[in-house]
Amino acid sequence: MSNAHNLFDTRRQFDLGNGQQGALYSLPQLEKAGVGPVSRLPVSIRLVLESVLRNCDGKRVSEQNVRALANWIPNASRTEEIPFVVARIVLQDFTGVPLLVDLAAMRSAVARLGKNPKLIEPLVPVDLVVDHSVQVDFYGTADAMGKNLGLEFSRNRERYQFLKWGMQAFDTFKVVPPGIGIVHQVNLEYLAKGVLSSPATSAPGSSALFYPDTLVGTDSHTTMINGLGIVGWGVGGIEAEAGMLGQPVYFLTPDVVGVHLTGALREGVTATDMALTVTQMLRKAKVVGKFVEYFGPGAAALPVVDRAMIANMAPEYGATMGFFPIDAECVNYLRATGRSEDHCRIYENYYRAQGLFGIPQKGEINYSVELELDLGTVAPSVAGPKRPQDRIELPNLKQEFVDAFTKPVTASGFGKQSDDLNKSFSVEGNESSRTGQLRHGSVLIAAITSCTNTSNPSVMLAAGLLARKAVERGLQVNPLVKASLAPGSRVVTDYLEKTGLQTYLDQLGFNLVGYGCTTCIGNSGPLPAAVDEAIAKYDVVAASVLSGNRNFEARVHQGIKANFLASPPLVVAFALAGRVDIDLTREPIGKGTDGKDVYLRDLWPTLQEVRDQMQSALRPEVFRRLYRDFAGQNPKWNEIPSTAGEVYHWDACSTYIQEPPFFADFGLRPGEISEIKGARALGVFGDSVTTDHISPAGSIKKTSPAGKYLMEHGVAFEDFNSYGSRRGNDRVMTRGTFANVRIKNLMVPGTEGGVTKCFASEGCGCAPGETSSIYDAAMAYQKEGTPLVIIAGQEYGTGSSRDWAAKGTALLGVKAVVAQSFERIHRSNLVGMGVLPLQFKEGSNAQTLKLNGTETYDLVGLGAGLKPQQDLELRITRTNGQTETVPVTCRIDTPIEIDYYQHGGIVPYVLRQLLAGA
Ligand code: SF4
Repeated sequence: MSNAHNLFDTRRQFDLGNGQQGALYSLPQLEKAGVGPVSRLPVSIRLVLESVLRNCDGKRVSEQNVRALANWIPNASRTEEIPFVVARIVLQDFTGVPLLVDLAAMRSAVARLGKNPKLIEPLVPVDLVVDHSVQVDFYGTADAMGKNLGLEFSRNRERYQFLKWGMQAFDTFKVVPPGIGIVHQVNLEYLAKGVLSSPATSAPGSSALFYPDTLVGTDSHTTMINGLGIVGWGVGGIEAEAGMLGQPVYFLTPDVVGVHLTGALREGVTATDMALTVTQMLRKAKVVGKFVEYFGPGAAALPVVDRAMIANMAPEYGATMGFFPIDAECVNYLRATGRSEDHCRIYENYYRAQGLFGIPQKGEINYSVELELDLGTVAPSVAGPKRPQDRIELPNLKQEFVDAFTKPVTASGFGKQSDDLNKSFSVEGNESSRTGQLRHGSVLIAAITSCTNTSNPSVMLAAGLLARKAVERGLQVNPLVKASLAPGSRVVTDYLEKTGLQTYLDQLGFNLVGYGCTTCIGNSGPLPAAVDEAIAKYDVVAASVLSGNRNFEARVHQGIKANFLASPPLVVAFALAGRVDIDLTREPIGKGTDGKDVYLRDLWPTLQEVRDQMQSALRPEVFRRLYRDFAGQNPKWNEIPSTAGEVYHWDACSTYIQEPPFFADFGLRPGEISEIKGARALGVFGDSVTTDHISPAGSIKKTSPAGKYLMEHGVAFEDFNSYGSRRGNDRVMTRGTFANVRIKNLMVPGTEGGVTKCFASEGCGCAPGETSSIYDAAMAYQKEGTPLVIIAGQEYGTGSSRDWAAKGTALLGVKAVVAQSFERIHRSNLVGMGVLPLQFKEGSNAQTLKLNGTETYDLVGLGAGLKPQQDLELRITRTNGQTETVPVTCRIDTPIEIDYYQHGGIVPYVLRQLLAGA
């Protein structure tokens, strides 16, 4: 079966509205054919079902997959995986560069085999938006944006040069260069089409085939696109690579939580308050790993930009998606953002023909569970100081800060003495930094940032209106505040300029600093040295206020402990107040030039004032102009030289981009699955080892193996950059694996950091049994051909999906990880890299088995005929020669994963499939 199949007679025609007909795979017909009660399914499930039906080829996707999903049951034990073939992929630069490195390495491998390197070509469109690299070094001046962009280019030249090679080498790989916007806002405003098509074939009567826009992205907030009725979520790089090469993304059949929205936001309440309220409510409702689908009159009344904010925060409430179905509002948004009339008509006709047009009302859909939210109950809020789900109503913030100040750190507090609260410290500035009084609760960073908010003109205009009123009353921002404005697209600047509001934001220091993630991803840049010193010297609990979506400790800035998420107008308000221990609903924000107190209520714009300005915000011609000819509008990008050719010429001297060794000995046939014998433990870890413990993203220590490597290659310490920016260089990343300064290897009790006991007979430089770095030990074991294992506790690989956590593990020579339990994505990433995940049986673990890493391990029963979740035996041989055998579960969970494992990972598997068909 192929895309031209006609399973259950579902390939049908529909009216394009321009006198022509298009083809589609009809969901109503699937129901008519008696396959399942399709029209009662959640809309998000039906959109996935369309992909399963259309891509049914009897191999990757079977008829049984179609039947199973068409008969989705709201409440059932979830064991079946759904093969989901997505229509496109979006990437940001931190995750996209390593992915392009892998594609380039595949081309090199294919060329070495004497085949056509063009065989490696993404089968679906891939768009990479460079947004994660800009940092707020300059701020508060008219030229801040240009200067930050200049620094970004000088810091990232090598990476950008490589991206330019990728653009010319792959037909389906496109780059939105730096200085344009943030991936999810650009996706919403420009990349998303809503409905896609493949051209008609030459067969008589053939017409173009239309299908829903679906995607995965290598960024957790990919879900923002769910606000436009598009199914998509964030995945790890390994899954994205497979998706790119035509493999399905597999995910467990989800529960779908229906959230019935009623009512409307009140005067004085923003869409940000609504997003924070939904986040808190759904975190409590435990929606982790589930689809969330919004419905009811409240959902129908929300504009797409409000829906997108709620959808954006799905990772914060833990859901796989936060989905809004398709309706007339989506058509309005597509039209307003410059998509053509013809396209909008086809979009609407397609979803009408599929019975998917309109927000469902109560009783129309069978959800796993239904929750209620009256939007009229939402109140002005912030969230923090450490977690996005900890929402605080504005009048309570002062007291909450005071309480948190003295609460123990273990209870999410700051562990300070209450006497300290009112102390203040002078910060002596110089020409480049300002003087002021620093207190606990002082706002030091106020950032209008993040696609979450900057994609919504209503809150951005509200910030501008509030700034105007503040300037008119003569208010000023506290001198210690580092203020910044970093929108997710240039459209924002266009409407802030046209409405004349940017000038007021400028007067308060909210000058444009760049179009990118900036403070939201932690690129808030340094604080003035005097401020930094004072924070450290007096251990000040300083605050940041940002319109972002994450505020975990040290994410926003290393030195700032209390971080609050708030709407853009509240960010301006807190910058004016200069502190967070204030009740803005009762206390004055400052004094006007007339000497009178000014309150927040004096500055807050009305809904009507915002609506009046909105007329200027969404103009189709502006979107068309700004999303055209990126290169022409971006001279710095044009200046970056591009190398040509289908195969990348790897530069042996580069410390950013290197050919990874994944395909070094690549052959056309996979090896046989065989037993693992005589393995040594590289690490014995406790519970909750995170992907950041395994593969840190942050700074590189001078004395670490990665630091030494960089120094040996002529990189000065100040140019080390981070592990995150060096993910295109496997030499750095392998040395950085298990190198987090906080990881605790129980083989070397009492230590922190990437050390182990090495029992290799030669090569590591120390006597067997001595302590060495994990990297040095792994290399010594590799030299003598000793396989390695990792022993761990519960929730191994928890935290954000990070493919280098699996890649680095594989490159160190680890053949199996034996843990009490695994985080879902990391388990699949391990299999995706050819590393065997094994699970201890209930009641057995490293402690009960008294494992200290001096043992050797054999894995018995591993071989041809391996079955998903099969029991295997782990034979432990202790130093005194005693052996013990314990059963473990092989956590290769599905038949396709057996294939991946046998091939040494997903990518070698896909590569061999492609070569076999060549
Ligand atoms: S602005 Fe924040 S949420 Fe949006 S893509 Fe960047 S880091 Fe992610």
